[in-house]
Amino acid sequence: MRSDDAARPIPPGSVIGVLGGGQLGRMLALDAARLGYRCRIFEPAEGCPASHVADHVAASWDDRQALSAFAAGVDVVTLEFENVPVEAVDFLSGLKPVRPGGEALKIAQDRALEKAFLNKAGVETAPWAEVSHVEELNAALERLGRPAVLKTARFGYDGKGQAVIRAGDNPAQAWAAVQGQRSVLEGFVAFSLEVSVIAARTPTGDIRCYEPVENRHRDGILHKTLAPAPIDADVAERAVETACKVISSMEYVGLLAVEMFVMPDGRVLANEIAPRPHNSGHWTIDGCVTSQFEQTVRAICGLPLGETTRLGAVEMENLIGDEVERWPELLAEPNASLHLYGKAETRPGRKMGHVTRVRPGA
Ligand code: AMP
Repeated sequence: MRSDDAARPIPPGSVIGVLGGGQLGRMLALDAARLGYRCRIFEPAEGCPASHVADHVAASWDDRQALSAFAAGVDVVTLEFENVPVEAVDFLSGLKPVRPGGEALKIAQDRALEKAFLNKAGVETAPWAEVSHVEELNAALERLGRPAVLKTARFGYDGKGQAVIRAGDNPAQAWAAVQGQRSVLEGFVAFSLEVSVIAARTPTGDIRCYEPVENRHRDGILHKTLAPAPIDADVAERAVETACKVISSMEYVGLLAVEMFVMPDGRVLANEIAPRPHNSGHWTIDGCVTSQFEQTVRAICGLPLGETTRLGAVEMENLIGDEVERWPELLAEPNASLHLYGKAETRPGRKMGHVTRVRPGA
């Protein structure tokens, strides 16, 4: 694509191709529709949450014919799922603009590349080392000390594929827990709280960030997001600066979430990046002038970015597993906005929906 093409807006009426068909694709399609766009979803699973609200192509990621036909019917491609094979994204990039592209995806899919990228961009992380066999793990433990967290380099999410190594633990056990896969060992950091910042960047380099929010986890899964995060203004500024640094050092186009640890001394350490709308940004649907999903559309289509002004004090609560059965009481609660993802099967640990409570003006 020529650079003057990149700067040309993709107007309402166009079709957005979305790789992945979960709840993020579903909420993206709903907001895209409000702005006059159509979405077409590429997702192998029939009946996925996004397929209820948008066109759906059910084919496998290595089906080149299906990918070509998909590309022919869309104007721009984005993704809502991190584990889309990079080969599929690279193939589509030859046919249509893919925003964000394969480079960002590659980094986000691999914790070792991710940490190296962050440090190179001047962003501090927990101390870390890449380990490919148990001797390397032992050497890294010597250097980083205990406790430490061993995380598989690829395909880890919601705390899966992780093992904490404490004083007295046998590292071989942690190595077995990650099934001997290439991993990253991180020094355990005694953070005060976890925050995230969501940033968006257009093809012409405009950047806008939402303010930092606090994320509270339960059993390794995001439970609640609180906006604003209860942190000092200078810490909030550092968190936003960190997200800006990350998004601008990649020439990134689209929306990006940066998860961070806030340390007792006010330092901010980046933990993870997600090249897509993020669970910790769901509060923006009801709690902000522009939702993270609308902002994604604006960024990838080269439209002016929306205001990220917060409408009040906001709490977003995930409905995990059978918590979704609370829907009647949540519907009856004044000021609670209920979002259900239409998943056919309730499973423990599965994100089934969320509820947002906004206290206006706070
Ligand atoms: P992650 O999969 O990297 O997002 O990690 C899942 C959760 O584990 C994080 O949200 C933290 O609560 C915790 N965690 C991850 N890495 C560390 C670390 N280096 N030190 C302390 N806690 C961590």
